[in-house]
Amino acid sequence: MRADESSAGTAIDLIGFVTRHLACAQCHTAYTPSDVHVTQHERDEWLLLATCPTCSAQRTITAYDGPPYLRLDGPYGPLLPPLTPLDVAEWRAFLSRFTGDMIDLLAEG
Ligand SMILES: [Zn+2]
Repeated sequence: MRADESSAGTAIDLIGFVTRHLACAQCHTAYTPSDVHVTQHERDEWLLLATCPTCSAQRTITAYDGPPYLRLDGPYGPLLPPLTPLDVAEWRAFLSRFTGDMIDLLAEG
């Protein structure tokens, strides 16, 4: 497969993701593939523009064709020290008081 064929496939995948998972923020109309266009592509970063077929509101979407952690330092992500018994104790204490779900947990910060 040539690089431009791969890029075209990635664009189709990203547009498909937008039409399946995102809708107009103004009127909640779903996008169709013809409503979503690639406006910029550089390495693994893509900018998409979605135009609502009902109210014409436009939305810019930034997408990456690889896991974001691969963009960080190191071959497998950021170089972090190993967990210590203190880290584990702190997490144990935190989780014993935590009453939310995984979304709440990952949104903390
Ligand atoms: Zn709309």
